[in-house]
Amino acid sequence: MKIRFMGAAQTVTGSCYVIETGGTRFAVDCGMHQGNAEIEKRNYSNEYDPSRLDFILVTHAHIDHSGLLPRVHADGFRGPVYCTPPTRDLLEIMLLDSAHIQEMEAEWQNKKRTRHGDARPVEPLYTSADAEAVTRLIRPVDYREPFEPAGNVRVTYRDAGHILGSAFLLVEITENGDTTRLVFSGDLGRPDQLLIRDPSELVSAHYLFMESTYGDREHKDERKSRDELAEAIAYSYGRGEKVIIPAFAVERTQEVLYSLHLLAKDGRLPADMPVYVDSPLAIKATEVFRKNSKYFDEQTQALYAAGEDPLRLPNLRYTQETRESQAINTTPGPAVVISASGMCNAGRIKHHLRHNLWREGASIVFVGYQGQGTPGRRIVDGVKSIRILNEEVAVNARIFTIGGFSAHAGQSQIMAWLESQCGTGVEVFLVHGEERAQKTLAALIREKCGLKVRIPAYLEEVTLKAGTEPAAVAPPAKARPEIDWTYLAAETEAKIAELNKRLAHMDERSWVDQSDVRDRLLEIHSDLAGLISEL
Ligand SMILES: [Zn+2]
Ligand SMILES: [Zn+2]
Repeated sequence: MKIRFMGAAQTVTGSCYVIETGGTRFAVDCGMHQGNAEIEKRNYSNEYDPSRLDFILVTHAHIDHSGLLPRVHADGFRGPVYCTPPTRDLLEIMLLDSAHIQEMEAEWQNKKRTRHGDARPVEPLYTSADAEAVTRLIRPVDYREPFEPAGNVRVTYRDAGHILGSAFLLVEITENGDTTRLVFSGDLGRPDQLLIRDPSELVSAHYLFMESTYGDREHKDERKSRDELAEAIAYSYGRGEKVIIPAFAVERTQEVLYSLHLLAKDGRLPADMPVYVDSPLAIKATEVFRKNSKYFDEQTQALYAAGEDPLRLPNLRYTQETRESQAINTTPGPAVVISASGMCNAGRIKHHLRHNLWREGASIVFVGYQGQGTPGRRIVDGVKSIRILNEEVAVNARIFTIGGFSAHAGQSQIMAWLESQCGTGVEVFLVHGEERAQKTLAALIREKCGLKVRIPAYLEEVTLKAGTEPAAVAPPAKARPEIDWTYLAAETEAKIAELNKRLAHMDERSWVDQSDVRDRLLEIHSDLAGLISEL
């Protein structure tokens, strides 16, 4: 059989594998690529023909694992999509939300193009109609109930403990009478999360495709994280300012609500400090969580059975409308604001940051992973000011980075999950991680666990046969287009030389012209200074 890495290979987003065996061709996950422009181009590259896929297995609802489902439908895929029942419920709201974002983005681009006199319209990556159509292809399957989506393929979903409905998959493929066992970790959760069950134990396999997001880091424990959240609340409450929490709408928002519920019970959330959930998607997701409470862990189910709803707070306000969202910042006084996106690169959170980042006494509390190149990552990395919604905003708020809320296993938790398979000869392919995390984890697995580890590249293809060395076909050059640094540097130098020539005659221009040019040059200067400081 052959497996091809269509995303999340040496990056974190765009999880997707295409597997071919005998006459069967299927995908595991169908994630959207998110990051800089070069990475996002991959969403449009028709690298495999989705209309020839027989079925798709989805590990969990996060967009980096599911976000291209509407796109593959638009490209002709009509087979079944398998996932757990809670994942189905989450996909129904998340894919539609994602489609709205795509439509709005295209509309915005088109307005901009029209203003520039360019009549060629931009098509959205996909539409709401595509999202609705693909959710009709979903076939829910429950945990630990093996099924056969094709004659030679048997699949079992097991709990991944990452978000509601998340799974790792055992895929057993029979070729010429021999069965090869593949395990796809999906995103592996951290044990002892507040709402959901812990990851199930790893099963034996020939090949393990494993995420490595936190391959080089550990998380602080959850109780400490709750203390830090309490500290942020006390800090901003005392100064009459707001606590802004960028959080993914699904899972993280609900975990934060649960933590605030616990803090309120301890008397560590002031009764007159309102808590806003300012994300229409988060509001819908919270409803999906309540509906699927039978998938929560024992403690949470016990709370529900006793009549306590851990997702409720005395002073909780949901803001659906834009008008209500704007009112949060025109209302003075302390408040906790949970809003999306979690990495600050889209959505209402940008407005909250613009209004609060510069305020002494405000807090920004990061409770999730901040990807390379996102505004969230730059703030966490300690920039003094940042451009948000076309405005340079100073960072005067106190920044908290709270690792204990992560939905991903930290390094030692990944190793603990792997432990039962150490020395068994399973071959590990590390995916879903940035370079440093992957290299660190690979070395650790080789040393402590005695397993072979590979780090596949985007578009790499590997032939798998149990008992033989996997044969890799190098990815095509287009997987990583070469950048001509010498040319770029020479071009920049030439432009600066030309600029100097023209500036020599600036005093012949009117004062208004001169001041315009000065302002534009200052902007370029600040852009360059920013770039240099990042390199
Ligand atoms: Zn995930
Ligand atoms: Zn992921």
